[in-house]
Amino acid sequence: MISLRNIQKSFGKQNVLNGINLNVNKGDVVAILGPSGSGKTTLLRCINFLERPTVGEVTIGDLTVNCKRANKQDIMKLRKKTGMVFQHYNLFKHKTVLENIMEGLVIVQKLSKDEAKVKSLEVLEKVGLADKVDAYPSQLSGGQQQRVGIARALALNPEVILFDEPTSALDPELVGEVLEVIRNIAREGITMVIVTHEMGFAREVSNHVIFMDEGVIVEEGNPTEIFTNPREHRTKQFLKRIT
Ligand code: ADP
Repeated sequence: MISLRNIQKSFGKQNVLNGINLNVNKGDVVAILGPSGSGKTTLLRCINFLERPTVGEVTIGDLTVNCKRANKQDIMKLRKKTGMVFQHYNLFKHKTVLENIMEGLVIVQKLSKDEAKVKSLEVLEKVGLADKVDAYPSQLSGGQQQRVGIARALALNPEVILFDEPTSALDPELVGEVLEVIRNIAREGITMVIVTHEMGFAREVSNHVIFMDEGVIVEEGNPTEIFTNPREHRTKQFLKRIT
């Protein structure tokens, strides 16, 4: 359902991604692991052209976008197929929880306000925040704010949700509630790609693990292959360090 072909990305002289090929099936939960600076976030952002690859092509469903030929409309179409959950939530601070979720539904999907409200309440229920509709982000904990971020992505019914280190800005005691919400969404069969440092979570929730280092995929496989029987030296070293 998603295919990345020879994705390369440079920032000035620095080559951050050095030719990434990746296929994701519908319903897959892909965990992207690797040391800091290995290019995980950049790769995730290349999937919806938040970073435009220097070389390469992205396919999501029936749409293929090539970095050399893509125009604004292609990129808009690609973005509509993806939802994104950011490390720092990126909520509108001056809008309520409900308004944060309705915004995309009204502006991007052109739903009426009533329809958008119904849909928003439905997803807020799913992330356990139905009682916070009128709160402002500053009145919520980090974990609650991130759950709003997840609800906002979910509301748009994307073909894939991209999670960029969704728990790394949270105090440790708030990580669990966010992982629980992601776990529940995964059970619904939504395709997800998650950059994470939460190894236990990656092992439990994903069915496809990618280990990156220095802008390449060093090794990929199912969680047992990667966590129990890693083949590559760099994967073994990384897991030894982190667990
Ligand atoms: P990871 O997510 O694995 O920690 P990143 O993709 O965030 O890695 O970063 C990989 C490298 O790319 C880092 O050296 C980072 O400094 C660089 N980088 C990322 N984004 C930018 C940017 N917008 N401009 C310049 N350099 C960047």
